[in-house]
Amino acid sequence: MQETISDIKTKSGPKGRPEIDPEICKGCGLCIPSCPKDVLSISKKTNSQGIQFSEYDESGNCIACKNCAITCPERAISIYKFVEEE
Ligand code: SF4
Ligand code: SF4
Repeated sequence: MQETISDIKTKSGPKGRPEIDPEICKGCGLCIPSCPKDVLSISKKTNSQGIQFSEYDESGNCIACKNCAITCPERAISIYKFVEEE
């Protein structure tokens, strides 16, 4: 029984997450349509240069496909892929 529960948790858990550096982001918005899960948007907040930066919605729906990181001309996005512990 316990094994089944832990299997379900693993399968439905977050696959990864993007980390966007708000100080490097230029707010161009190119990453937003590149995301197949629609989890990125331009924040209402601004960085130290007064630029509204891209942010992750913390939905847990990122699949770590890296599209956004590849698309970003400023290299502002790092992707963390969650893997199962051995
Ligand atoms: S890695 Fe893929 S799913 Fe995750 S935020 Fe970037 S584009 Fe979206
Ligand atoms: S593509 Fe890069 S610079 Fe442009 S909004 Fe997204 S994170 Fe910011």
